[in-house]
Amino acid sequence: MSFSEHVTGLRAAWVWTGPGRLLPGATVMVADGRVVEVSRRPVSGRQVRDLGDGLLLPGLVNAHTHLELSGLAGLARPQGDFVDWLLELVATRPRQDPAAAAAATERAARQASATGTVLVGDVTNTGRARGSLAAAGLSAVLFFEALGPAMAEPPEPFVGWQDGRLEQSAIAAHSPYSVPAWRIAALKQRAGQGPFAIHLAESVAEMEFIAGRGDEGRRLGEFLLVRGVRRDELDLRKRRPLAHLMALGVVDNNTLLVHGVQLTPAEAEQVAASGASLCLCPRSNLGLTGSLAPVRRLLAAGANLALGTDSLASTDDLSLFNEMSALAAALPRLEPEAIFTMATLGGARALGLEDHFGRIQPGASARLAFVPLAAASPGEVLAAALEPAAAGQGRAVD
Ligand SMILES: [Zn+2]
Repeated sequence: MSFSEHVTGLRAAWVWTGPGRLLPGATVMVADGRVVEVSRRPVSGRQVRDLGDGLLLPGLVNAHTHLELSGLAGLARPQGDFVDWLLELVATRPRQDPAAAAAATERAARQASATGTVLVGDVTNTGRARGSLAAAGLSAVLFFEALGPAMAEPPEPFVGWQDGRLEQSAIAAHSPYSVPAWRIAALKQRAGQGPFAIHLAESVAEMEFIAGRGDEGRRLGEFLLVRGVRRDELDLRKRRPLAHLMALGVVDNNTLLVHGVQLTPAEAEQVAASGASLCLCPRSNLGLTGSLAPVRRLLAAGANLALGTDSLASTDDLSLFNEMSALAAALPRLEPEAIFTMATLGGARALGLEDHFGRIQPGASARLAFVPLAAASPGEVLAAALEPAAAGQGRAVD
């Protein structure tokens, strides 16, 4: 083959290009920040860099985080109480030193990038993380989030590529328990064919509050009332959260549901049938609620699953490799490839960007991730990369 001067190659003992395609000893040819070709034939020459023993894979997609909360690191306690955590979050956030919060956000974005993430779905109430995302070279879908009845409207949509980095605006509503039904519907309409994100069925407190019963629901209601959210203004009609959103007509293939911890098996089928994506945040979900969405049921039903870290207020770090490893530990019977798919193509699909991210294929982003591994057989490579010690070494390919 002949390539022009500016084409370079990255070779590794294993290359996982996307679902169903694990190649031994392959070389990814790249030019101008995009993948040109994946070659299984030996490619040599000065421009080929051999990464050696390990697994080369698409840059990771963190479909749900809140970078601007990075200064609140350390809030979450294992098996924590969801309403207590919310109380601490809203009490601590205004007391933050702005300079320290900005520095923490910048560090967090750099950490995400260094650990192999190339694209984030970042929820924001302020837009303050934009500079940090750019400085870290992270592509971002910025979800401007409406929270409560009175919050300012999201800005006009924007989308732009610069030096191989994408920055795109999108719209989010915080949740069915904090945003009135009419407003969720209006925000979804405004999102049009773009991504629309909403937290859903995260905690028992949310389920009870929406159903209008239970101690946890009452505590969440008291918390919300102090914040100016009155239950009767939400127009919940005691539906379950998914049924509520479906009745509002806001669940479709551009919708990104986040958490889904409390979904029933029947609701998992409904999510899959709707075409919506669901983002799991395993460490945050386990830490705040002790539970996870019905992952195997969702996968069996054909739902598109993505993976997110959530914010540093509810998880230890923004490494998506560590997130994958935690999910593998929590659900040991899950196929390793399903987890890799969530962290790559699943996230890219959830953000409407599967042509650009989530797979190693011609035309896609050439920002890749790598996990050093000792020699392994084809059947063991992906599982080996999810072992905590290996995942902890997962990193960006510079
Ligand atoms: Zn969130």
